[in-house]
Amino acid sequence: MNEPVKQIGILAVQGDFEKHAQMLDRLGAAWKLVKHVVDLEGVAALIMPGGESTTMLKFFDEEGLGPAISRFAAQGKPIFGTCAGAILLAKEVLNPSQAHLSLIDISIERNAYGRQIDSSVRKGDCPELVDHQVEMVFIRAPIIRRVGVGVRVVGTCDGLPVLVEQGNIFAATFHPELTEDATIHRYFVDKLGG
Ligand code: GLN
Repeated sequence: MNEPVKQIGILAVQGDFEKHAQMLDRLGAAWKLVKHVVDLEGVAALIMPGGESTTMLKFFDEEGLGPAISRFAAQGKPIFGTCAGAILLAKEVLNPSQAHLSLIDISIERNAYGRQIDSSVRKGDCPELVDHQVEMVFIRAPIIRRVGVGVRVVGTCDGLPVLVEQGNIFAATFHPELTEDATIHRYFVDKLGG
């Protein structure tokens, strides 16, 4: 008998969730959009996209999504947060402080590149994943200011940690869904094993 297909949920309350769906299509991974708590049923992993974390928090409050995502994480299921998604997953949020899920032991500063640098495309390194430099798109991006002892830095850019992992939680301060390079998503999809 065939194993049931493992579906990746993409949080779709706000932000650029469609680009993640396109990337998963390219990789041949099954996905579904998650807008309500009930949508998490049967989902094996979750992507939390970039967008505006304060707006996402309003939906979290209305829908009870925060506690549901914490329960999802406690089951050991992989979660990948990009940009605003990474902010929501962090243990500490600066500039200013706001509600967060505390699922990965990092301190993250919102809009940390300054207003004059609204967005930029840089090159970074993820030596464990790939031997070429990775194009990284930063949009009103946060900076990870502290990395806890249990957190592994998987990617850096300009000397800063930009891709981090702790257990089943994976977070990027940039937008890997906005380039042609599927390396980062492939690494996440592979966590589901086959
Ligand atoms: N600046 C946004 C926030 O604080 C994040 C930007 C993004 O996700 N591209 O939520």
